[in-house]
Order: sequence, then structure tokens, then C-alpha cells
Amino acid sequence: MYSETTYQVLRQAGHRVTRPRKAVIQVLQEARDWLRPETVLTRARDIYPSLGLVTVYRTLALLADLGCARRIHFEDGCQGYVRRELGHSHHLICRACREAVEFPGLEDLDQLIKPIETRTGFVIEEHMIEMLGLCPNCQQQ
Ligand SMILES: [Zn+2]
Ligand SMILES: [Zn+2]
Repeated sequence: MYSETTYQVLRQAGHRVTRPRKAVIQVLQEARDWLRPETVLTRARDIYPSLGLVTVYRTLALLADLGCARRIHFEDGCQGYVRRELGHSHHLICRACREAVEFPGLEDLDQLIKPIETRTGFVIEEHMIEMLGLCPNCQQQ
């Protein structure tokens, strides 16, 4: 289960599993779409009423650093977050309903990255891919 796994990741990295953090993690667990920090705050306050926005931002950033959440960037500069449960993975984001579907990355990009390294001399250590589109439901509307 996402919350239990995330608690373990936090503890192993030397972080405490506090009630505010638990509230944020529970909100991520229950969402099937990506969420803005403000939305996380509103929902998490149902669980932990004295929660503040700064704590939400810090917790989301921490979860992203630890690989338990993915930060999603948009052209208008806003950011969203979605839980991340698989190791190396990517998310498909529906731009209409905001549904976020995670799927494993596997060795997906080797064929793309290797030639780029050869051509540029870079050692590529990580990549961030954002795939936006329409989910099956939204295509029918
Ligand atoms: Zn959709
Ligand atoms: Zn990948």
C-alpha cells in the first residue's frame, strides 16, 4: 500500500512520519488525478485541520526528492503532484480530467539516450518526461 511504503521510505531516509506528513500522504494515496499543493492542503485539512501550506509544500518536495511523488510542470508555470509507486516510471496525464496514470519506464529510453550521449559527450544521469494527452474517457466526449 502506498502510504505504508512511503512511511518506510521516509524512516529509512531519517525523516519522521509526523501527522501532517501522514495527512499529505493519505491525500496523495486517495487521488487518481494530479493535485496542486493548494488542493492537497484543502483535502489534508479534513484529516489534520491545523496543517499549513508551507508544510504541504515542504512535504510534497520531500516526497518528490525521495521518489514517492512526481512533480508535474505545466506551461503556465504551475506545478502539480501525483503519487509515485513504481521504481523507474513515467506518468501519462490527461489534460482534460487531470487523470494521472503511472506506468513502468523499464529500459525505455536507452535507444534514445545512448546516441545523444555519443553525439554530445554528455553523461546523461536522469530524464524527466511529461506526457500529456486525452484519456480514453475524455476522447469519447
Ligand atoms: Zn481524461
Ligand atoms: Zn524513463
